[in-house]
Amino acid sequence: MTKALIIGGGIGGPVAAAALQRAGIEAIVYEAHSGPGDGIGAFLTLAPNGLAALQTLGMLDAVRAAASFPTTGIEFVNGKGRRLGLLPDGSDQGPPELRTVTINRGALQSTLAETAQEQGVRIEYGKRFVGYTETDTGVAAEFADGTTAEGDVLLGADGLHSPVRRLMDPDAPRPDYTGLLNIGGYVRAEDATVAPTRGSTTRMLFGKRAFFGYQTAPSGEVYWFANFAHAELPREQITALGDDAWKEYVLELFADDHPDVTALLAATDPARFRPLGVYDLASLPNWSRGRVALLGDAAHAVSSSSGQGASLSVEDALVLAACLRDLPTPEEAFTAYEQRRRDRVERIAAEGRRRGNQKTGSTNPAALFLRDLMLRVVFRLIARFASHAWINDHRIDFEQRVAAPSPR
Ligand SMILES: Cc1cc2nc3c(=O)[nH]c(=O)nc-3n(C[C@H](O)[C@H](O)[C@H](O)COP(=O)(O)OP(=O)(O)OC[C@H]3O[C@@H](n4cnc5c(N)ncnc54)[C@H](O)[C@@H]3O)c2cc1C
Repeated sequence: MTKALIIGGGIGGPVAAAALQRAGIEAIVYEAHSGPGDGIGAFLTLAPNGLAALQTLGMLDAVRAAASFPTTGIEFVNGKGRRLGLLPDGSDQGPPELRTVTINRGALQSTLAETAQEQGVRIEYGKRFVGYTETDTGVAAEFADGTTAEGDVLLGADGLHSPVRRLMDPDAPRPDYTGLLNIGGYVRAEDATVAPTRGSTTRMLFGKRAFFGYQTAPSGEVYWFANFAHAELPREQITALGDDAWKEYVLELFADDHPDVTALLAATDPARFRPLGVYDLASLPNWSRGRVALLGDAAHAVSSSSGQGASLSVEDALVLAACLRDLPTPEEAFTAYEQRRRDRVERIAAEGRRRGNQKTGSTNPAALFLRDLMLRVVFRLIARFASHAWINDHRIDFEQRVAAPSPR
């Protein structure tokens, strides 16, 4: 195996290319957008497991230096701001360089792309993948500009609505809408009128009708996000409503909650209020077919409530590259990759769905009272018994030789 074509230059694509390059396999990334930070959302968190995978590839220092700050715990409060619980994620007990960080998504993508390029990876922007053909000896990708590219394998790192997945397996299930819309924005330091959050802790508020989270960055900027229950809306309908109307709608959702929330929302540019649906893809029957395989959200999207999508995509990249390096055929490599990854990501997808389900509000005061009571107990139990170490402490030994997969 000498050459891999990777569709998608988001998070998993450039990392998979860097890992393959290190494994002695040439990898070229094809990204539809015209640059690494184009048309993407506000921010996300990278957990110790994802950071450790980046460290293996020599990409960690650049990522940490790029507009990131630690987020090692969550303080949960009710709509009135009264504390329900504090959940450290445990990463402050580990090596400082692997503490969970919040990072601007554009900065993360640019940094991953630049670091991969410094390591010899070629990334071609403005290349929208539209189809592929496969022969016994290789695969050819087709792009909207009429060009083609040939390689030994084709890897779909093309996200939640993956065109590679649709073509590889037309019967694959579509991502499931979780019933929540998400928006994320930030308020400039000079416009932030709320008291800063403490240390490296995000404050998350179970409001009357919706869920809100925010954290003050060391720069003084406040990063926030909101989740609220809503019927699924097609992209065009979301856009048609207009940014000002969305801002008004969201302000109304939090009108009965702590004034800090409305202060932050009011100080935010209306352009930040256009929501995205929260989707997951709990279990995809086929992760690969022939010379084509999927990674990251294309294979197993987890809800944003898990805070793990980006980290899992990076883990996939490392495992997939090691399998392609050590096994003689694409089919064997893809089977070994799936066997190493499926259980873990499906368990995290289920966990993300469970967390998201707690985020819906109620207009009934008795129901809200009971919810807050129940949450206090739940957070105490989680803090005591339900460690998330199995998620965050996962490490991949890239140097270890991958054994042949067990028969399917
Ligand atoms: C609102 C929100 C908040 C989130 N918060 C977190 C968080 O806190 N922590 C976390 O870990 N994860 C979070 N996630 C999930 C995380 O963003 C994804 O899991 C992660 O981006 C997946 O990486 P990926 O490389 O698989 O896909 P993506 O990052 O989506 O990259 C896919 C790339 O493929 C490109 N592409 C698509 N179609 C084509 C085509 N036809 N041709 C060429 N290129 C194409 C896209 O332009 C894109 O650049 C969040 C997601 C959302 C929506």
